[in-house]
Amino acid sequence: MSEVGNTNATRGTYAEQYYPNTEELGPDEMRVVALGTGRPFLRRSQANASWLVELGNGDKFVFDYGFGSQMNFTALEMPYSDVNAWFCTHLHTDHVGDFAQVWIGSWAGGRLEPLEMYGPSGAEEKYGFQFFAEKQMESYAWDTDTRVGALPAVGAEINIHEFDYSKVHVVYDHNDVKITSFPAVHLTDGAVSLRLDWKGRSFVYSGDTTPSQFFIDNAKGAEVVVHETFNTIEQLMDRSGYDERTARAIGTYIHSAPEEAAVVLKEVDPRLAVIFHFFNDFDTAPEMYEKVRQHYKGPLAMATDMMVVNVTDDQVVTRMTEFSDHVWPNKRKHAGFGKAKRKKMIGMSDWLLEAQIFPKVLTERGYVNKDEV
Ligand SMILES: [Zn+2]
Ligand SMILES: [Zn+2]
Repeated sequence: MSEVGNTNATRGTYAEQYYPNTEELGPDEMRVVALGTGRPFLRRSQANASWLVELGNGDKFVFDYGFGSQMNFTALEMPYSDVNAWFCTHLHTDHVGDFAQVWIGSWAGGRLEPLEMYGPSGAEEKYGFQFFAEKQMESYAWDTDTRVGALPAVGAEINIHEFDYSKVHVVYDHNDVKITSFPAVHLTDGAVSLRLDWKGRSFVYSGDTTPSQFFIDNAKGAEVVVHETFNTIEQLMDRSGYDERTARAIGTYIHSAPEEAAVVLKEVDPRLAVIFHFFNDFDTAPEMYEKVRQHYKGPLAMATDMMVVNVTDDQVVTRMTEFSDHVWPNKRKHAGFGKAKRKKMIGMSDWLLEAQIFPKVLTERGYVNKDEV
C-alpha cells in the first residue's frame, strides 16, 4: 500500500502484513478485508466492489460481490460456509457480478445449508433483489440440474431475503449482530448503504452513492466508514478517454467525487475513513489524497484489494494481506458432505452414452483385462 494509504503510526502487536488463517480475532475485535475496490472495469490489481467483515464471535459477512471479488475471497483460504450471510447494496454488475460464483462456488465448496442472501427491493418488482436472484438461478438451470446428482442437493438453494430499500431499518439481527439498511442516492430508487453494529464495533459501507444526508445521519460516529469515490474528473478525462460532460456525470452525478466524499467523511468523523471505487495507482493516489484532504483531515485509508483493517478498543490498524496466487479453496474437510442427500443424476441421450469409451470399449480394445472389470 502506498504511504498515502497508510494512516498508522504504529502497528502495535500486529505483524507487518496479514497472513490469512494466522491471527485469531480477540473477543471484541473486528477485521475488515477489502475484496474488491476498483471501478466497474475489472483489472488484475482491483476487482469490483466487495467487503468482508469478520467479528470476534466468529460471524462473517460479505457486503457486495462484484466481478472478480471472489478470487480475492478464495485467496483468504476461508471456507465459503464460514460466511453467515451475503448482502448487496444494489444491482449494478460491479456489485453483484459474482453472484453465480458465490452460489455455485460455495455449493461445490462444501456448503450444506441454503445460502443466505440479502438485498434491497426496488421501485418495481423487476428492480428488486428477489427478481434478480430468481432470474439468475433460473438462467443457470443447466448448471444446477447437472450438479444436483453429484453434489448435496441443498446447495442449490438460496434463502432470498429482500428488504425495503426506502426505510432506515434493521434487516439482520442475530447473535448480537445488527445490520441496518438505509437509502443511498444513486441513479434511481433501490440502492442502499449498510451499517453493521456488534458489541460497540461498527462498520458502514456506502455501496454507491452521491454525498447524502442519509449517509451522514446513519454513519455518524461509526468506526470504519467505507465511502465510495470515483477518480477525479481530470483523471477520468485524461486516462479513461471520457469527454468532460461524461466524466462529470460519472464522477459527480452518479458517484461521489473525492472532495465531495470528503465533506461527508468530515461530518461523519469516523475512527477510520476508507475510500474505494477508484483506480488506486501510485500516480493517481496523490491527487485523490489532496482532494479528500480539502475537507477531511482525520484518519484515512485509500483502499486497494486485500487491504485489511483490524479494529479493537485500543487501535485501528491497516495493513496489506500476503497471499498466494495458487491457493486451493475450501481445504477443510467438509463434514457430512459425502452423506448429504443427492438428487437423481440427470440423464443424457443414448447416442451420447454410446460414445463413452469407459469401461466397455476399453475392454474390447484390450486396454483393460476382461477378468479385472
Ligand atoms: Zn452502482
Ligand atoms: Zn459501483
